[in-house]
Amino acid sequence: MGRGLYIHIPICRSKCYYCDFASYPLNRFTERDLDLYVLAIEYELKHLLSQETRPVELTSVYVGGGTPPLIDTSRLVLIMEAVHKYFDLATGCELTVELNPLTCTPETLRGLAKAGFNRFSLGVQSFDDYTLMKLGRAHSAQEARAAIGLLKENFDNISFDLIYGVPDDDPARWKRDLETALEFDPDHLSLYSLQVEEDTPLAQLIKRGFCDPVDEGLQADQWDWACDRLYPTDYRHYEISNWAKPGKESRHNLGYWLYDPYYGVGAGASGFLDGQRYRNTSDPWEYTQIMRSSLKGRFPAAEFVERLTPEQMAAERIILALRTADGLNLEDIPGMSSAEFWRRYGEKLTYYREMGLVWRRRQRIGLTEAGMALSNRIFLMFMP
Ligand code: SF4
Repeated sequence: MGRGLYIHIPICRSKCYYCDFASYPLNRFTERDLDLYVLAIEYELKHLLSQETRPVELTSVYVGGGTPPLIDTSRLVLIMEAVHKYFDLATGCELTVELNPLTCTPETLRGLAKAGFNRFSLGVQSFDDYTLMKLGRAHSAQEARAAIGLLKENFDNISFDLIYGVPDDDPARWKRDLETALEFDPDHLSLYSLQVEEDTPLAQLIKRGFCDPVDEGLQADQWDWACDRLYPTDYRHYEISNWAKPGKESRHNLGYWLYDPYYGVGAGASGFLDGQRYRNTSDPWEYTQIMRSSLKGRFPAAEFVERLTPEQMAAERIILALRTADGLNLEDIPGMSSAEFWRRYGEKLTYYREMGLVWRRRQRIGLTEAGMALSNRIFLMFMP
């Protein structure tokens, strides 16, 4: 049985203005806290495995955050040793680590190689210092360039994250950023529109009038421009926000969109197993405490567990698959036949197909690029 594994390291140097992920500044952790956190991850891995009745093989491991190398690569080595100790890894298992430009030093990269990572996801976000400042990023454009140079000298299979649609954005800035990224020839690109989440410093800045709200029209134009720019290149637009060279798609993230089960380990991590979604407490100290006690239940650190109804599972399966370029195989919808799918949604989908938003090939349907641009509206019809 193949599964993904996500491990969360909820630690950053400082908090970016737009961030609502579970992450805490490094200076709140003692060395002992970090050691105990690593041990807690090992306990959770062991516990999750003890709940299985059949052997499990991991097809991908993704260590994200946060900024994982901040806990020191010697601790990442211990975490990866624990993964190998408790789970079998499939041949060619994808092992991704998230990086921040400030953590890319020769010493860190040596440590990441020792930990066995074979894919590197760098949070560049922008090559423009003013934009980085507006986002509250702790690194400069020059530091991002230096980090990329170092990564490329040492590894292949490198992905960049870039953000568009920041407040007071300039279309020329986005074009320059994407052109600069392409000059570095990454294997994979994740292009995200900035989302203003409640209770973030950015939401406060906008509320108090210190910066303009995000311009959704501009965001749509910037996404369109990126699609047009990348269309004639080697990059395949394999998911709404993701482009990859052939064979360099993120196997881990594809697992999410293809509705494969995955473990979530660590404070704030989410998992999806046997029709249940769970999310661990986001407090790393509480998480560590729980893992050091006698563990009860399948998800002992979960602050949220939900068993999905058949309707929810069908809707999630449909929506997640439609995010991908390969679309949805109608025979893969849990609890819903292809005939039932067409009975429920056929009329609207035919209309969207006539508008050029949806394609159909035998038992498979998907969104065209024009459809992906309007995906949020199209997905509404599948909500239970
Ligand atoms: S580096 Fe990532 S996780 Fe950390 S604060 Fe910034 S956006 Fe959040």
